[in-house]
Amino acid sequence: MTAAHVLGFPRIGAQRELKFAVESFWRGEIAEAELAAIGSTLRRRHWQWQKDAGLDVVTTGDFAWYDQMLNTAALLGALPARFGFDAKSLTLKQYFELARGNVDQPALEMTKWFDTNYHYLVPELDADTRFDGGVDWFFYELEEARSQGYDVKPALIGPLTFLYLAKSKSTGFDKLGLASRIVLAYRRILEKLAAQGVEWVQIDEPILALELDLAWRDAFAPIYREFAHAGVKLLLTTYFDSVAAHTDLLATLLVAGVHVDLVRAPQQLDALLAVWPQDKVLSAGVIDGRNIWAADLSAKLAQLETAKTKLGDKLWVSASSSLLHTPVDLAQEDQLDAELKGWLAFAKQKLDEIVVLKRALNEGRAAVATQLAASDKAAASRRSSARIHNPDVGNRVAALTAADSQRDSIYAVRADAQRAWLKLPVLPTTTIGSFPQTREIRAARAAFKRGALPEEQYVAAMQAEIKRVVDKQEALGLDVPVHGEAERNDMVEYFGEQLSGFTFTRFGWVQSYGSRCVKPPVIFGDVSRPAPMTVEWSRYAQSLTIKPMKGMLTGPVTILQWSFVRDDQPREQTCLQIALAIRDEVVDLERAGIKVIQIDEPAFREGLPLKRSDWDTYLEWAGRAFRVSASGVEDATQIHTHMCYSEFNDILPAIAAMDADVITIETSRSDMKLLEAFGTFQYPNEIGPGVYDIHSPRVPPVNEMLRLIAKALDVVPAERLWINPDCGLKTRGWPETEAALANMLAATREARAAIAEGRKLVVQAAEHGHLHAEHACGCGH
Ligand code: GLN
Ligand code: ZN
Repeated sequence: MTAAHVLGFPRIGAQRELKFAVESFWRGEIAEAELAAIGSTLRRRHWQWQKDAGLDVVTTGDFAWYDQMLNTAALLGALPARFGFDAKSLTLKQYFELARGNVDQPALEMTKWFDTNYHYLVPELDADTRFDGGVDWFFYELEEARSQGYDVKPALIGPLTFLYLAKSKSTGFDKLGLASRIVLAYRRILEKLAAQGVEWVQIDEPILALELDLAWRDAFAPIYREFAHAGVKLLLTTYFDSVAAHTDLLATLLVAGVHVDLVRAPQQLDALLAVWPQDKVLSAGVIDGRNIWAADLSAKLAQLETAKTKLGDKLWVSASSSLLHTPVDLAQEDQLDAELKGWLAFAKQKLDEIVVLKRALNEGRAAVATQLAASDKAAASRRSSARIHNPDVGNRVAALTAADSQRDSIYAVRADAQRAWLKLPVLPTTTIGSFPQTREIRAARAAFKRGALPEEQYVAAMQAEIKRVVDKQEALGLDVPVHGEAERNDMVEYFGEQLSGFTFTRFGWVQSYGSRCVKPPVIFGDVSRPAPMTVEWSRYAQSLTIKPMKGMLTGPVTILQWSFVRDDQPREQTCLQIALAIRDEVVDLERAGIKVIQIDEPAFREGLPLKRSDWDTYLEWAGRAFRVSASGVEDATQIHTHMCYSEFNDILPAIAAMDADVITIETSRSDMKLLEAFGTFQYPNEIGPGVYDIHSPRVPPVNEMLRLIAKALDVVPAERLWINPDCGLKTRGWPETEAALANMLAATREARAAIAEGRKLVVQAAEHGHLHAEHACGCGH
């Protein structure tokens, strides 16, 4: 029989129970036993859902108090020595210290899990790392499930993926050199599972979807040969992209089964079937583990039926990846209408979809005729609904010409036109947009949303805040002020709420890292902008000052990237629709007299595909979408863009091709390292490399900023250099914001004086506080 399973289930809980429990524990409000009980309840509930839906096994090992990579390190006993913890007797408190740091040690670094918005903790390895075993939580949870009567398939992150994603802490050290040691550790774990009577073990090796170096690829066969006699059957799982480059490796690898992602890469199925051995399981990931759409089950079945003919019982059905990346339960969404809801499926609903497919394969389509008919109906309504398809939007995108994604003149000509009216001093100063979001601001916004604050009063409150922010900037002497973004909760949601084609869920939370969750908007239909979104606020702000007010928008790529995106048309198409909506706003701002406009694109880099060979295609359409949004204005209007915590070195030509007049970036924490690439590449337009870190309340002294300005002047000519903080200030308090900006302006004055006197700016390096990387930026993503 074809079996049904999942690679993992979201652990946060339908009501984010895990988040709230963990945070209460951190605050000392609940005891460890209470936290443990909440975790236990959640695990049991999620297993029960899997069983009730009709999956053949429930998956364990997918639970974590903070992160599954940290869990794996704790299980293997490979914790960074700098903490001095004994992995075998690791306490929950110590586990959280690894994740969040303690008074002596910064936390493990955090980084994105492949191309998802989930962030894992990066294990630290060096030549001395041992894998002598650690805490037994993994085995405890397995036993817990079995004692509750579930048939279980434990899931582990595979040895090669673990090594590959870890960070080497000693120089000149090759992580692969640890392979023989880590193999022993995994074998011990597998043997222990065998002794406990476990039949199947899931072992995740998603790095196979990357363009792997040969050394890594060639490590698979020998390593997995070591597990062949461990006494369990291994299901090696891959996801997020095609592994077609490795069909022969996967067909011959000594594992009992392989899982592939047929949502991201449906075309790889044929290649795999062509070489697939009779006795090996192929788990088909056909239900989307990364998105919220209900599957077109008939279409999925058609895809699976050929495979079934060839593979028989060796064909298994699943979701493309762990369901970790989807919200938990659609049933809670009481504010979506039935039609829209019929188009969606969250993790719990996806369990049912998997089982419908399994039953159709095992018992014939007739056995699930009702479910298939309902799915057909939803799919048909999605194809034709007027709520989704707006011919005007489609036509507008189709009518885009080359001229629409290009400013009228080249940068040099535009720069002259802009200088002529802007008349800014050398090293102009600005900020990235948001100012501190005080409790009063949040309260006013929430009250307005609830209907408890009448619109006029809300507008008055926001205007008062704008005035406060503008006055402060005047007093500080910033050259290009902003209105402060008090009216915005989130830089994507704010726009999504005003654009058509978007909807919002009440509980569509997805774990981003640790206890942090995000609730992305859902783009379900063609996107257009019914009315101006920011113009009145900017116009009001401009009325308060004679300085050029900078308008503030979120760019099309970032809006796309931070939303659940429709799967019935290419991402590129959706992105161009958003680009046109933003373009309309840009043009309206210009018409309202706002002639410096920033279009934020902090998510531009994270859209890069996993395989480098796919980068150019992405960069081409993403860059075009940005230019479409920015190119409706005259030469004299200055377009800024902003990107945070990005590494640009490998995509600088694409950044330059966006052709923003000014780009502001985060550089202070890397001590301007990033900038060297801009210098070598000779970035043609203006740049504002952040001169102070906004991620902590620390107020950097004038000299420290001056030193960064001097470094920047080494690579960027003074006439193209801007001075600004690293990112928006919304997570900061007022006292440190004012103090830091005052220092930034003092540093700028000194730098200007040096330039005026033709003197080279030389600044002594002061003692450094530590510049360790921290993930979270002001944007909350
Ligand atoms: N304008 C936004 C702000 O200042 C930019 C934030 C971001 O790019 N992450 O908050
Ligand atoms: Zn930023």
